[in-house]
Amino acid sequence: MYDVVVVGAGPAGCMAAKYAAKSGASTLIIEKNREIGIPVHCAGLISKRAVEESELTGNRSFIRNRIRGAIIHSPNYEMQLEAREDAYAIMRDRFDRALAKEAMNSGAEIITGCEVVGIRLSGGELRIQTVDTSKGKKEEMGAKVVIGADGVRAGVAKMTGMRIKRNLLSCAQVEGHYDSEGAYAEVFAGREIAPGFFAWVIPLDDQIARIGLCIDKRFSSPHSTPLALLKRFLSQPYVARRYRGSYSYTGGAIPLAAGLKRQKTVKIVKDRGGILLVGDAAAQVKPITGGGVYYGLRCGKIAGEVAAEAASTGDMQVLKHYERRWRREIGKEIAFGIWVHRLRCVLRDDDFDRIFHALGRKRWRIEEKGDMDYPSLILNEFIKEPGFIKLAVKNIIRYMYIYGR
Ligand SMILES: Cc1cc2nc3c(=O)[nH]c(=O)nc-3n(C[C@H](O)[C@H](O)[C@H](O)COP(=O)(O)OP(=O)(O)OC[C@H]3O[C@@H](n4cnc5c(N)ncnc54)[C@H](O)[C@@H]3O)c2cc1C
Repeated sequence: MYDVVVVGAGPAGCMAAKYAAKSGASTLIIEKNREIGIPVHCAGLISKRAVEESELTGNRSFIRNRIRGAIIHSPNYEMQLEAREDAYAIMRDRFDRALAKEAMNSGAEIITGCEVVGIRLSGGELRIQTVDTSKGKKEEMGAKVVIGADGVRAGVAKMTGMRIKRNLLSCAQVEGHYDSEGAYAEVFAGREIAPGFFAWVIPLDDQIARIGLCIDKRFSSPHSTPLALLKRFLSQPYVARRYRGSYSYTGGAIPLAAGLKRQKTVKIVKDRGGILLVGDAAAQVKPITGGGVYYGLRCGKIAGEVAAEAASTGDMQVLKHYERRWRREIGKEIAFGIWVHRLRCVLRDDDFDRIFHALGRKRWRIEEKGDMDYPSLILNEFIKEPGFIKLAVKNIIRYMYIYGR
């Protein structure tokens, strides 16, 4: 029997396993894909803080490009922002593999090509049922604590009755030839382009970029798919002038919490075992940008430490500290982001122009204080201005009226 079994070898799972193993727990990661990090469903834009949080100090070959700022486009307005600190475009497959290696170096074991299909409490321990994805062979193993780090599908949560209320954003992305504006990420907001979210261009160098978009399907026409909208986006004059064809396509989904109260990430089973959810499985994602790597790493560390403590003391009540600790760190940011997302979902194109115009007038302030992991720090300042309050109230009422909470 293991002290801790982590389901999923993404950033959240690898970090949770590393910290559980470092804290002395016998730890196993189970990953359903044969190769860690593949397939990739990510634009790979992360902050310098996230790179530091990964603790990958040696070989940083996962970094593909340095991003110096952003160009923000609303339907009839454009502004360029210089970032206080560079961000990075990374190669997620290499990044995830490096994190897995670090977990192993700390003492965790990893099995790949093995899918967790069931979890039950039996004889005082959690029994985890697995299937070998190529041979179909079934097996079972025991654990004191299971960490569900299995991404947006959140299988562990479903198997254990821990469903988190969330809204799924649907995404499509191509990697291809694109004459970029140097090292600036581009963001395109507007109801026509990407209802409920935005489109992006992340340059990997002067000639290659990841171009994608996400939509909140509750706010788009029933017939529009992210792929169809992406194709339309690629044919818009501004993009079409630069874009010269793609060589890879990915889809994917991003889970946004529907409300903090509906994010229960700890389950204690008869005081004899426990389950924690982390990363996308727990909807620990920034609602404003959809980025989940940094929060996954942060919360993974907490989950690993707390799981190891519960396993070594046998006191499963300790697991409750996990929820308290991660909420203290990112709870307010997620709650704020949920409101901004609701607002964005119902904004009209001229509202986007007005907001970005106002932000543009105080561009220096964003450049000075903006933080991609904690966007509320700067947005809170703007939202308090009278013009914004009026616009926000009008649109939040519109949201509540049309879609309820
Ligand atoms: C199009 C797109 C673009 C994005 N861009 C960015 C970005 O630029 N920056 C950013 O920070 N975030 C971005 N994200 C979000 C980011 O990819 C996720 O938040 C992040 O990968 C979450 O990490 P995780 O470890 O929780 O889950 P994942 O990385 O999804 O890892 C979960 C792992 O669990 C495994 N698994 C699932 N079920 C089982 C099972 N039953 N048994 C065993 N293994 C299982 C999966 O195979 C997978 O390897 C993007 C997402 C999408 C879809």
